Amino acid sequence: MQTENLVDGEWIEAQGGARFDVIDPGTDAVVAKVPHGGAVEARAAVDAAAAALPAWRARPADERAKPLRRMAELMLQQRDALATILTREQGKPLAEAKTEIAYAASFLEWAAEEARRVGGEYIPAAHADKRILVMRQPIGVVAAITPWNFPAAMITRKLGPALAVGCTVVVKPAEQSPLTALALGELAIAAGFPKGVVNVVTGDPDAIGRTWLEDARVRKLSFTGSTEVGRILIARAATHVTKLSLELGGHAPMVVFDDADVEAAVRGAVVSKLRNAGQTCICPNRFLVQAGIHDAFVAALQREVAGMTIGYGLDEGAVIGPLIDDAAVEKVREHIADAQEQGAELRTGGHFVRPRAGLTERFCEPTILRGLSTNMRIASEETFGPVIAVRRFEHEAEAIELANDSPYGLASYLYTRDLVRALRVAEALETGIVGLNDGAISTAQAPFGGMKASGWGREGGKWAIDAFVEIKYVSIAM
Ligand code: NAP
Repeated sequence: MQTENLVDGEWIEAQGGARFDVIDPGTDAVVAKVPHGGAVEARAAVDAAAAALPAWRARPADERAKPLRRMAELMLQQRDALATILTREQGKPLAEAKTEIAYAASFLEWAAEEARRVGGEYIPAAHADKRILVMRQPIGVVAAITPWNFPAAMITRKLGPALAVGCTVVVKPAEQSPLTALALGELAIAAGFPKGVVNVVTGDPDAIGRTWLEDARVRKLSFTGSTEVGRILIARAATHVTKLSLELGGHAPMVVFDDADVEAAVRGAVVSKLRNAGQTCICPNRFLVQAGIHDAFVAALQREVAGMTIGYGLDEGAVIGPLIDDAAVEKVREHIADAQEQGAELRTGGHFVRPRAGLTERFCEPTILRGLSTNMRIASEETFGPVIAVRRFEHEAEAIELANDSPYGLASYLYTRDLVRALRVAEALETGIVGLNDGAISTAQAPFGGMKASGWGREGGKWAIDAFVEIKYVSIAM
């Protein structure tokens, strides 16, 4: 297991040898200690990325694609080992971790192909003796700051397109999940990326983030994390007008109409909400269910979650793993208690358990609450736990109003078999992503990102490239 930082192709310690513990949320065991880097390491990483930039950006696209493709292959070959590291530091069940590794690799594969298509345009001008040439060039050194809930995919979703277009990258993973990031750094080297093209620094988020945004050589910061930290970064980016991509928090509504296929809606609810124990930016936080189907939906959901196995991620059969830390546990407890105090009915779950000896008590039962109302905390704050809160509605217009009643606009879900209604409501929802009769919406081919306080920009598909290129227009007199 790699436990040092990657700077300029070398594995380094933080200044003075400072380290911090990476904790297994399921057992509280110290999985490893990694460098507690700060401004010095952050600057060294930018030095390396800036030095590597001219040669990397000058490479033909096919030559940039080769190590990307190779890294994806290595990830798939070493999928089990990577997934085990991921599960140990993050907690999600091993089967889910393996799925994440494959998903993460798919961003590199896609980017390797897309590298060839970063072309420009030759446009007719208004005058016969003029031409317009539009180039798309790599933006330069890119900083990537990522969260703990998808420790592999949130890195490759940035790394792939940034490297494909010819940028070099400095990465800071979340303090809870640095080991997956360091393992990816190791694979980047093994895949043949030249030194300095990919750098990974762990440690003090404030010092590292500040150093990168105070360094004019860093032309772009791509951040995935909370809206709260996103706002801090927006303010700091003002210094050099650093370009930002922001994948921030969400508060997805799932709207289920009377004419929906109930079983499909229940499956969608489970896959979108209970994956990663509900610690997903796109998971529904509000279930809006039309009156005629409401009771049947809640009953079917209750039957569905009854059989789900809560367990340690590396134990056979575990489906619901632990929450990431005690602060997460406290928030979920508060949301459940607050909802009940304000009149919600607890249909099932609601407790934290210790699935077996040797484990922590951070495992939350799949929980169903009915009677969700607007004043409850769960109606406006990200819960980040396996809590399904259901509200009854009567009419389509009411559902749309409730669904859009959020400062966030990342994802939404919509279940109906009426095609015209599906399109009408999908158009009305103020979110960057809509799952139409679909609870599994993340894929490398599609544009992923949010409206409103959920951020700026899109990752994934051909849109991912736009985040890492500058458009240059050359006006030509013939
Ligand atoms: P977070 O607290 O905002 O942390 C995200 C990253 O920012 C971590 O690497 C963190 O480092 C770093 N950070 C914290 N303070 C910073 C600062 N002052 N300057 C620079 N970096 C700083 O979010 P999280 O708890 O890890 O992740 C959960 C959040 O991410 C949720 O809101 C979720 O919705 C969102 N998310 C969004 C997407 C999306 O695609 N839209 C995807 C996944 C998650 P430390 O860990 O070292 O503090």
